[in-house]
Amino acid sequence: MNELVIINFEEIYLKGENRSFFIKKLKEQLQKKLKPFQHLLRIQRVRGGSIFMEITGNIDEQTREDIRRILKTTPGITQFYFVKTVKTEKETIIKEALAYTRGKIEDKDSFRVTVKRIDKNQPFTSRELAADIGAAIVARFGTKVNLTGPDWTLYVKVRPEQTFIYSEIEQGIGGLPVGSSGKALAFLSGGIDSPVAAYMAMVRGLHLTALHFHSVPKTSPKSIEKVEKLAGILGSYQGGMRLLLVPVLEIQQEIARKTRSKFRLILLRRFMYKIASEIARETDIKAVITGDSLGQVASQTLENLLAIRAVTDMLPISPLIALDKKFIIRKAREIGTYDISILPHDDACAMFTPERPETRAKLEEVEREWNRLDHEKLIRQALGKTESRLC
Ligand code: ATP
Ligand code: MG
Repeated sequence: MNELVIINFEEIYLKGENRSFFIKKLKEQLQKKLKPFQHLLRIQRVRGGSIFMEITGNIDEQTREDIRRILKTTPGITQFYFVKTVKTEKETIIKEALAYTRGKIEDKDSFRVTVKRIDKNQPFTSRELAADIGAAIVARFGTKVNLTGPDWTLYVKVRPEQTFIYSEIEQGIGGLPVGSSGKALAFLSGGIDSPVAAYMAMVRGLHLTALHFHSVPKTSPKSIEKVEKLAGILGSYQGGMRLLLVPVLEIQQEIARKTRSKFRLILLRRFMYKIASEIARETDIKAVITGDSLGQVASQTLENLLAIRAVTDMLPISPLIALDKKFIIRKAREIGTYDISILPHDDACAMFTPERPETRAKLEEVEREWNRLDHEKLIRQALGKTESRLC
């Protein structure tokens, strides 16, 4: 028996003429993320809404688990399943179905066999084949048949030459393959929200580079380690993530010296966008992802968001803007960032928050404060000290 992994991609399948582009992106992602196993795997072909990936070597349980985890965290994949392939010939199918069942059914109380015939030119019906395989399993293992609520299901898909035998259909995260919507920067703090925002952007097909603004030595280097861990987790979805660490302490000091305290946070945020534009200028990046959620903190009123974003020509995308915290927390747990996000850290912005921050900033007033600062010099200095890591 040979083994294949069938990978389904429904949403891409719906994309009409662009379909081959989306499939190319998904294949590139698979090749990148499955690189450690490339000697064991071979993408055979794409048919309909599926990629057929052949397992060419012997794989142990750990390797199988690693491959499974990668497929479960690859945007664009809706479902996948490991199948054994056997020759389409009734006696062979029954024999191999029995061999496949061994080791899987012993601890189950009941089972059913579900047969689907893609090839209708066989001398047996789906029902006959299901009954014959079912009877053979009962005779061998003594397990009861239960058609309506079985503990275990054996699937048999009869195709023209090869028949697929499998028992578990695994759910992927769906969405679009990373890279198919282009590239973006992601503002990544150590908090709960921004990793979730980044995740949602990747699932919409964006390839991300993370940007973190820190105030070391005023803030502890531990907060950077935390962001590196978050970028590492997010990187597992897109096959590694580059993290740019931008020091903003000097900018903060200059803001504190020269401007009115209630605008501090707004001005700092404007620097973040300006720095992002500079970084993006050398690439083809046009969007920046943020974890802003309306009304959550002082900087997130409509007036403040407008006064901040007036400074940038990039497209700010904030997937969480209208989501409530409960939903965001649930998502953070699901994608594996929550436990790291809740670890204590000192935050470049939190330390810098004035006692009475402006919540209804007027653009003219913000511009006036902004113009007291030598932004070009400050931005150049920050960029000169920016460090880059691959997480
Ligand atoms: P988070 O949980 O992501 O920190 P938040 O609800 O605490 O978000 P803010 O702290 O106001 O909200 O930040 C809003 C957004 O600005 C963040 O989601 C993030 O995208 C960006 N941001 C804030 N601080 C930083 C930072 N130090 N480095 C990079 N991005 C930041
Ligand atoms: Mg925050």
